[in-house]
Formats: sequence, structure tokens, C-alpha cells
Amino acid sequence: MALTGHPYAGRRIGLATMHAKERAVAPPFRRLLDAEVVVTPRLDTDELGTFTGEVPRPDALVETCLIKAELVFRSLDVDCALASEGSYGPIDSVPLVPSGVEVMAFLDRTRGVKIVETLPTHRTNWRLLRFKADDPNIAKAVKAIGFPRYGVFVLCSSDMAHPVKTGLDTLDNVVAAMNREARRSDDGMAVLIADMRAHRNPTRMRVLRALSWKLANRLQHLCPKCHAPGFGSIGNRRGLPCEACGEPTHWVHYEIDGCSACGHAEARPRKDGRTTASARSCPSCNPK
Ligand SMILES: [Zn+2]
Ligand SMILES: [Zn+2]
Repeated sequence: MALTGHPYAGRRIGLATMHAKERAVAPPFRRLLDAEVVVTPRLDTDELGTFTGEVPRPDALVETCLIKAELVFRSLDVDCALASEGSYGPIDSVPLVPSGVEVMAFLDRTRGVKIVETLPTHRTNWRLLRFKADDPNIAKAVKAIGFPRYGVFVLCSSDMAHPVKTGLDTLDNVVAAMNREARRSDDGMAVLIADMRAHRNPTRMRVLRALSWKLANRLQHLCPKCHAPGFGSIGNRRGLPCEACGEPTHWVHYEIDGCSACGHAEARPRKDGRTTASARSCPSCNPK
């Protein structure tokens, strides 16, 4: 149902994407805000780099994401812009379990609204595998990534900067490319990775859809003071009093909602209704 009276109702919001992310973003922005998401006509970003190495810290992703959203204003005559950035890879502590994080940024340059929502996820087909030429397991690995519904990249192990970009349309062609890249590699290995671009990765598109709903839902909430969209959680304050002695503990006392436009903030009680912390977690009652 359209939300009449929302500042973004009937407005256009520019989205920076080369990979059809509007399929994930447009529905919640239409349903919750009655806003129209439009894709930037020109955008030069290559996301491959963020998916072949380690998962960078979320701060670095946020920075990139905000820069990408700013780029929207160069090519579209809009006041609001959206961009997303994701990163997937092995977890340091559990090398065989891949995971990822998605970041989505929203800018309203007339109101000064700047909102970043993140969504960590374990739902991913991310893989990075090395094979020698003619390894009989190549075809199985390609299918395990989800090909052909999901895309794959093939790289030469000693020349990762030049991935095979064309001709990966059939299983036979992917296997042939793996063999060819392995033979020309200094170490005799080819690298197979899952294509994480949204339009070639239905699992990533689903995660982006969930994050888009989260962001649109936040934008529904207007600041009680200046009425800018996006009033919501900006952190919390610790110090919930101990149930026995009343001294502050490290437990969260209040959630803090804030407005990125005017800086107004409000404390909100814990969602679980707790007003005291367990004495076991109290540094006074239970010193280490
Ligand atoms: Zn405000
Ligand atoms: Zn205590």
C-alpha cells in the first residue's frame, strides 16, 4: 500500500548499479515509500575486485558505498541517491565457511539525510577454488557453484588481474577455459570463483532485497523534530543497573534512535523489556 504524505511519495531516487540491482531495490521503495527507483545511465565501477580477496572491514565498504551514491548526482537530476556494496569471502576463523556483508547507502542532498544500513549474511555460494589442467573435478565444482543459473569467473592463477570475460556460457566452455588458463599459469593452476555480481547471483540478489526492505522501512520513519526521513537506531548506551546492587553493568541500558539530518536523538528502552541486569554480570557483585 502506498504511503501517502511521505516526503518521497512520487519522487525519483537514483540508484548506482550496473548489475540490475533495481530488481531488489525498486519493490520495497515503491511499496513502502511510493518512490520510483531509477538507474543511473552511466557508472563505471568494477565490483570483481571486492569478491576475490578477503572480506574488508565494513568501514571500508561504507566509504566506497557513499562515494558510489554521490556519483548518482553527476548523471541524474535527482535529490536522493542509493548505492550498495558487498563483500564475500572466507571467514578468518573458519576458512572453509564463506560469508559476507552487504552495505546500502542512501543520500538525500536537500535534507542532508545520510543513512547506511548493513546486513551480514552466511547465505552465499561464494567459492574460490584452484585446479590443475584436466582435473576431473572441475565440472563438478562449476555445477556446485550453481552454474549456469549462477555465473562463474575463470582466472589464471599467476595473472589474476585478467579474468576470462567472454565465452563462459556453457559448462564445456567453462571447463575449457579452466584448462587453458591453468596451462598458461606459472604454477599450472587456474582459479574458479563464483560471480558475485547481483544479476548473475540469485542468492546475493535475495540478500540485497532483504537489505532494501530494511532501508526503505527505516526511511518510512520521520524525525519527530525536523520530519526528515530515516529516523532510527544509531547505537545504544550501556550501563543497565545490576538487579542486586543497582551499579551499572556492561549490559545495554537504552537503545538510541537518531536523525542524520538535524542530529536529534531519543533514548528508547530495551526491546526485551529488561530493566535490570543479572547479578552474575555485575562487576561489583561478581568481581573477576
Ligand atoms: Zn531531524
Ligand atoms: Zn551488582
